[in-house]
Amino acid sequence: MAGSTHPTVGVLALQGDFREHIAVLGALGADAVPVKRPEELERVAGLVIPGGESTVMDKLSRMFGMAEPLKAAVASGMPVYGTCAGLIMLADTLLDAIEGQQTLGGFDLVVRRNAFGSQLDSFETDLDIPVLGDPAVHAVFIRAPVVESVGAKATTLASLSDGRVVAVEQDNLLGTSFHPEMTGDTRFHEYFLRKVAAA
Ligand code: GLN
Repeated sequence: MAGSTHPTVGVLALQGDFREHIAVLGALGADAVPVKRPEELERVAGLVIPGGESTVMDKLSRMFGMAEPLKAAVASGMPVYGTCAGLIMLADTLLDAIEGQQTLGGFDLVVRRNAFGSQLDSFETDLDIPVLGDPAVHAVFIRAPVVESVGAKATTLASLSDGRVVAVEQDNLLGTSFHPEMTGDTRFHEYFLRKVAAA
């Protein structure tokens, strides 16, 4: 992180593995807080949307009056990092959504939920991610989405060996299909915190 300040960053805490992200961000020196309400969102300089279950996160965000404030935060350019279900929440277009499921949108992507089917619910692999340098990132996928199409505003940060896109960026938005909060490799969170510091 640039400078000596400790930016306050939020982790959307409606559902999912928000505690793990708070722990990683805190260990990196950020003041990391759970965000459940609009007034908590107003106090943070960046937001992580964790993995979990996007259908539940979508329902709860609308129920708690968070969907519109979250959309406004994305539109205002707040740095937002979505992992797995969080990436689904940010996608402009979602495939294999359940009936009535909505996303916040903002990320110029087509994302498919549960893209690896039931035989391959969870798996791990090493990914070359040029923006993070060496070594390769060990990536854990859990009922993960893939990015089926990267729109003109977004760029690919990493793909599987078969070409499927699993990490993306668009200005202050960052998204991964996998879960860096589970592996002890903090480079994605550091990359995100650099966006927060620069914003
Ligand atoms: N399959 C989940 C969903 O659709 C995402 C899984 C995850 O976040 N690990 O939201």
